[in-house]
Amino acid sequence: MTSLDPLRLTARVAKRLLVDGEISAAELAKVYLDQIAAVEPRVRAYIRVTYDNAAKYSTKVDREMQALRGPLAGLPIAIKDNMVTEGVITTCASRILRDYMPVYTATAVRQVWDDHVVMLGKTNLDEFAMGSSTENSAFQTTRNPWDLATVPGGSSGGSAAAVAAGEALWALGSDTGGSIRQPAALCGIVGMKPTYGAVSRYGLIAFASSLDQIGPLTRSVYDCALLLQHIVGHDHNDATSVALPEPVALPDAERLDGLRVGIPAEYLAAGIEPGVRARFDETLARVEELGGRCVEIGLPHTEYALPAYYIIAPAEASANLARFDGVRYGYRCADPVDLLDMYERTRGEGFGPEVKRRIMIGTYALSAGYYDAYYGRAQKVRTLVRRDFSRAFADVDLIASPTTPSVAFKAGSRTADPLSMYMCDICTIPVNLAGLPAISIPCGLSDGLPVGFQLIGPAFSENRILQAAHALEGAIGFAPAPTFRDSGAEADVAGAAAGVPLEVHE
Ligand code: GLN
Repeated sequence: MTSLDPLRLTARVAKRLLVDGEISAAELAKVYLDQIAAVEPRVRAYIRVTYDNAAKYSTKVDREMQALRGPLAGLPIAIKDNMVTEGVITTCASRILRDYMPVYTATAVRQVWDDHVVMLGKTNLDEFAMGSSTENSAFQTTRNPWDLATVPGGSSGGSAAAVAAGEALWALGSDTGGSIRQPAALCGIVGMKPTYGAVSRYGLIAFASSLDQIGPLTRSVYDCALLLQHIVGHDHNDATSVALPEPVALPDAERLDGLRVGIPAEYLAAGIEPGVRARFDETLARVEELGGRCVEIGLPHTEYALPAYYIIAPAEASANLARFDGVRYGYRCADPVDLLDMYERTRGEGFGPEVKRRIMIGTYALSAGYYDAYYGRAQKVRTLVRRDFSRAFADVDLIASPTTPSVAFKAGSRTADPLSMYMCDICTIPVNLAGLPAISIPCGLSDGLPVGFQLIGPAFSENRILQAAHALEGAIGFAPAPTFRDSGAEADVAGAAAGVPLEVHE
């Protein structure tokens, strides 16, 4: 077996090694399980590592390699723990689902399982995907492998950290307001939110159903396209799912000739750190070098996107989370005196503080006297945000922005201030409100920490985005190799890590 560095290996290369017989699926799985053993105590990306599954399944792929020769056969993957997996406990990083054993598998996960990927485990997230740092997990805080004192972003922080730390070849995450792109940016990897409806939400534990979308977190744009190819498609179990008008193509572009890229002035006014701005400007220069043309555009309703999101997402969450009542799923409080007591204490003890905050905001915004003033109005703002994009795309092919205003921040530094946490998603949230596809690719470092570059396209322009991102990735030449340094915790990490430890590593 060739010696493989999990910090450099891409799915594209791993696949070739498997097909050429230079490595077996079992050996490949072991590369990742060994890396998990080496760094997981520091990174804590996984809620559950499925050692047995990885060992058994990779052996089966080897044994039946001829029969199982799917394009993804034997490639190890990590799955965010808000996608249900039959036979593997799915917690959503919540006490309320701590022991929940799903009886079915999410469509997107089923699709990659059917292609014989090897599941390594279920990754950590902010409870019910509510957050931007993975510190809202009820169980553990994940750390950024570029600097263990900092957060990996969120809510798919476990998936992003696992890929960045070489603990997974690639991963699935979910993005409601930025939860794939923001952690991808902070961890120096690629993350893509597809067009709303392109990937089935069946079996994705619902946060805000009109915004949620599953997508890939990978080490390269090519890998991103390869994984996306296998999770898209119409699913009759999800009424909002829709087939892409053309198949996802594996990108090969090296130039951007004739591509018009819009730069929204409003996104650059949003308190972008100087180091992030510098990498962004350099990347725009690359766009021009590759034959693209950058033009300033306006998305005038940008400033209303975040407030509208924080009405719509909690409103939908409050309705979606009503099902966790101690009767049907998961946790039930001990010795309830009557039904009401059971509801109240089950939910009181089962949900963490951020989830409760969202349920309260959402319930209030949907209540009879306030519905029009809040929810109805937020929906109108959503239409205005969507129209901004439609107008812009009459003149440009893609829109570019920094993915996040800052690089990874110290664990504990924003937990006491929800607004500063919400601001992390200022450049990503409008995209979800409009249902558009967008990618984040690494574009360099600031203070030794990765910076993300976001490309947004019109609905169903996945191939255009992937081609442009691939060409840019080549020109940027970023080597995603985190150092696992620890700059020391300056913030109050004890307060952040309030979750109860969960003994689930099998
Ligand atoms: N950080 C945003 C929130 O807390 C987005 C989360 C997500 O995309 N799941 O709602």
